[in-house]
Amino acid sequence: MPTHDYDLYVIGAGSGGVRAARIAAGHGAKVGIAEADRVGGTCVIRGCIPKKLMAYAGHYSGDFEDAVTFGWTVEARFDWATLIANKDREIDRLNGLYIKGLNAAGAELHQVRARLIDAHRIELHDGRTVRAKYILIATGARPSLPSLPGIEHAISSDEIFHLPALPRRVAIVGAGYIALEFASIFRGCGSDVTVIHRGPEPLRGFDRDIRVTIAEEVAARGVQLRFNHEVASIEKRQEGLQVALKQGGGLAVDVVVFATGRHPNTEGLGLEQAGIALGPAGAVPVDAWSRSSVAHIYAIGDVTDRVALTPVAIREGHAFADTVFGRTPWCVDYEAIPTAVFSNPPIGTIGLSEEDARARGPVDIYRSRFRPLRHTLSGRNERTMMKLVVDRTNGRVLGVHMVGEDAPEIVQALAVAVKMGATKADFDATMALHPTAGEEFLTMREKVVEIGA
Ligand code: NDP
Repeated sequence: MPTHDYDLYVIGAGSGGVRAARIAAGHGAKVGIAEADRVGGTCVIRGCIPKKLMAYAGHYSGDFEDAVTFGWTVEARFDWATLIANKDREIDRLNGLYIKGLNAAGAELHQVRARLIDAHRIELHDGRTVRAKYILIATGARPSLPSLPGIEHAISSDEIFHLPALPRRVAIVGAGYIALEFASIFRGCGSDVTVIHRGPEPLRGFDRDIRVTIAEEVAARGVQLRFNHEVASIEKRQEGLQVALKQGGGLAVDVVVFATGRHPNTEGLGLEQAGIALGPAGAVPVDAWSRSSVAHIYAIGDVTDRVALTPVAIREGHAFADTVFGRTPWCVDYEAIPTAVFSNPPIGTIGLSEEDARARGPVDIYRSRFRPLRHTLSGRNERTMMKLVVDRTNGRVLGVHMVGEDAPEIVQALAVAVKMGATKADFDATMALHPTAGEEFLTMREKVVEIGA
């Protein structure tokens, strides 16, 4: 007689949890999975997917403007309600597919909140208690807003997806992924947008040329940037919200969005009762196998505060399931993870920034800035920036960075070469595909001359 109800119980049915549940069930494990919200998690329900659909909406305005010089006459009007309704329909469809996928794999889905009552028992919000041999924590993260007077009048990205109307004036606090993406979306749909950021440049940790270029380009598209500024308070007035800045002055807006990072979802999960001491910011500390300090409890995805990206969580879930239930142990390789910011223009990047690479050894830098072919006709004053960071000792391409149309698609394809250890000579030996923007990565001949060199 087994002493447990499930071989594996997963808490959280986001991208990582669902992948782990399906793979473990495929390996023959009896799997239960609990989800307090909608199945699909942040990425599908209130993140990557709806965000990207909305980013498409934001692109049309610029395309309509540019279309005139290509001979088109366009009379464009935007309707927020149509976008939200169509986006919601697609999210409902994906939510259904995720549920179907779990059912097809034989995993038992419980659409209730779950919490640990000890190291093996999980209490479900519907009154049931289940016992599991292995437990996987995959509860993700949620927006984190600082406490300041009037913060209750602000929203996070979660609420953007359900705003009843397009706000006329938006303030976005922060200058990370979410801030830049929604600044571009709102601006593209027609709002007046101001980004308020405490630092001098956006996207901390990215290559400096990306940071400088994206600030220039979103500003050129009409996003107002208030860098080196912090919000002191938010006051609700009859005509909207008044945002006061610590440095003095302020602005009147209709919506204030805080995009100031995300915190692991561990509150009320009972991890302490299971014997797990939480790390800084409430994350579950895990080893390379995603194993917590309790040998049969694992954690993957944003709740571990490692690399908060969907494909990483999916891979962590897959590796966990193969390792524990498939007798094929493997660990996730965190080297050279490509990433994109779906701002307008978008960013694609993989590998080391120039700053990080220089800290490790001598590098050669190749950089190109050019006006995309399309804009030679449209007249839009937009520049694409491409950059290669190359190890001077062996020619290996350590970093690929781009700001410009299709950057995420181009960098995703180049990521294979970077991961395989391609050198600058390999890039040079590859025939260009003409005329594309991507070919520029293969035709950079001149090293950037270092000042003082
Ligand atoms: P980020 O960590 O990317 O950015 C947070 C921003 O908020 C930074 O500019 C930071 O400034 C600022 N900030 C943090 N705390 C405060 C504060 N108390 N007051 C004022 N400003 C503050 O977080 P996001 O919320 O944008 O996104 C969370 C994560 O989700 C990302 O890191 C990424 O991993 C993931 N994500 C990925 C996407 C993609 O792949 N396209 C899209 C969206 C999210 P400073 O730099 O000074 O710390």
